[in-house]
Amino acid sequence: MIRADLHIHTTYSDDSTLTPKVLVEQLAAQPFIKVAALTDHNSVQGCKLTLQLASVYPDILIIPGVEISTAEGDIVILGTEELPPEPWTVGGIVDFARENGSVSVVAHPYREYGMGDIARKYKFDAVEILNGASSASANKSARELARIMDLPGVAGTDAHKPEDLFTVYTEIHAGFDVEEILKAVKKGLVKVSPVTGSIHF
Ligand SMILES: [Zn+2]
Repeated sequence: MIRADLHIHTTYSDDSTLTPKVLVEQLAAQPFIKVAALTDHNSVQGCKLTLQLASVYPDILIIPGVEISTAEGDIVILGTEELPPEPWTVGGIVDFARENGSVSVVAHPYREYGMGDIARKYKFDAVEILNGASSASANKSARELARIMDLPGVAGTDAHKPEDLFTVYTEIHAGFDVEEILKAVKKGLVKVSPVTGSIHF
């Protein structure tokens, strides 16, 4: 079993102050959450550097990914170091993820830039049901959407600065391996949870 934050922005997103270096150091410095997905806005540029920085710490794991802005709302793709082909339509991105062995996630469906009920038209792999930057009621609606769509629910902090890290996590019944983690998420071997107490350093 591993604990993962499945939604994080670094300075490769234009609205984040969290550098890949600080992300990796923070992951290494606390014992609780050791897996993090890199999901910058419309960019995979930070993946290579972050994977490289993480490689010196054997007990942390980075899942490369991206958060794509579409006209209908944001989509997180887990397990890709490539951008989907443009134009970025929801259907096209969902297909790209499936063909690529990645996982498509409806990001914060009931917040600004969320897809809301429109997500039901598409074959996503999971719904983000606990987003660290969303209100309790928006997360509750997201849980309801996951139930209606019969999809696994995942959690991510949506961190844009160091202090946003380690507030929520996804518990995944998988080994310490990106492929295993992606498969387990698709199978629904997941549970979301807030972090109780502070584990900040
Ligand atoms: Zn985000």
